[in-house]
Amino acid sequence: MNIGVLGAGQLGRMLALAGYPLANRFTFLDTTGHPSAGIGDVMVYTDQHHLDDFLGKVDLVTYEFEHLPVALVQAIEEVKPVYPSSEAIRVCQNRAEEKALFDRLGIPTPAYRLVEHADELEAAARELGCPVVAKSVTEGYDGKGQAVIRDPAEAAEAWRAINHPRLIVEAFVDFVREVSIIAVRGRDGEVVFYPMAENVHVDGILRYSLAPMPDLDDSVQLVADDYIRALLDELDYVGVLTLELFQTRDGGLLANEMAPRVHNSGHWSMDGAVTSQFENHLRAIQGLPLGDTAARMPTCMVNVIGREGDPAAILTMQDAHLHRYDKAERPGRKLAHVNLLAPTHEALLAKVRACAALLPEAPEPRFSFE
Ligand code: AMP
Repeated sequence: MNIGVLGAGQLGRMLALAGYPLANRFTFLDTTGHPSAGIGDVMVYTDQHHLDDFLGKVDLVTYEFEHLPVALVQAIEEVKPVYPSSEAIRVCQNRAEEKALFDRLGIPTPAYRLVEHADELEAAARELGCPVVAKSVTEGYDGKGQAVIRDPAEAAEAWRAINHPRLIVEAFVDFVREVSIIAVRGRDGEVVFYPMAENVHVDGILRYSLAPMPDLDDSVQLVADDYIRALLDELDYVGVLTLELFQTRDGGLLANEMAPRVHNSGHWSMDGAVTSQFENHLRAIQGLPLGDTAARMPTCMVNVIGREGDPAAILTMQDAHLHRYDKAERPGRKLAHVNLLAPTHEALLAKVRACAALLPEAPEPRFSFE
């Protein structure tokens, strides 16, 4: 089976690493001009000729990057099976569509307004009550295309800074922690759920993901399972879907955003779960049985961003698994991650601190349950 992947970054690289044991081959189609997968057959898409070439090689198509022209994915769908479908891409690349879907399915979200003008932004900030977060409806990721407005008078400046024709404005959530749920749906509609992860972001970029959480009520996991199952079924989705949520003081969950692909907050599963998110995505899209999603042990993923430090020092740590992406160092760039496993959460936190001390750019690790 030759699997075509739209996008050619580290997520694609890790998909391929999970797929070789299943005798999969990989052909990547990069649309950015900067592929970094460094594995498989990488093609850079500039014209129809490249697309035809790509389609001639692959048996089915998936993606590791959702900011793609929907028309391109629809055109590919005419020729080869695409999992998840172009409809999932269409919804997930647009925050307004995403919120409308959450509303329709009864999945709670922060209060929000859609605005198309600086004056409307100011009015929304007044109505919702500051602080609010303004986000471009499309193209934003890792906190880019966003601004926190602390006073309605800041609206005009935020509008200029984001520089986008349509924004979503959300009430600022006083969350206890950020969490995510990852689930996989097979071609036959079977769904499996990973234990939820606690995610620590700094400046909008994920730094740590820890799963399972030591203090998560089973009932909260079940609520998250219900939300993501509703999304998967509604989109007739095949593959891995990620839903990021805020957990509030009363234990409730508010949906923030979703990603129609394997996700950084699921990297812990490469070493910490019986079956990784990457393998399960490949199983799902090929119509194979889905694998066990249970955690083997408390696990924490530490992102290596900007500078790598000394990889050899990390490798001296017990039950530490380094995954490097073979990318050049650059400020803010995701270069690698480390998965740390320990029999107890206490031992795990000690390991996370020791690991962070080895990474030149790592912020102080802080979790809600400490
Ligand atoms: P996003 O790109 O929507 O995931 O936003 C990036 C980060 O900004 C999130 O991980 C949160 O840390 C923060 N953030 C986004 N929306 C809100 C909100 N409505 N309330 C509080 N923090 C938010």
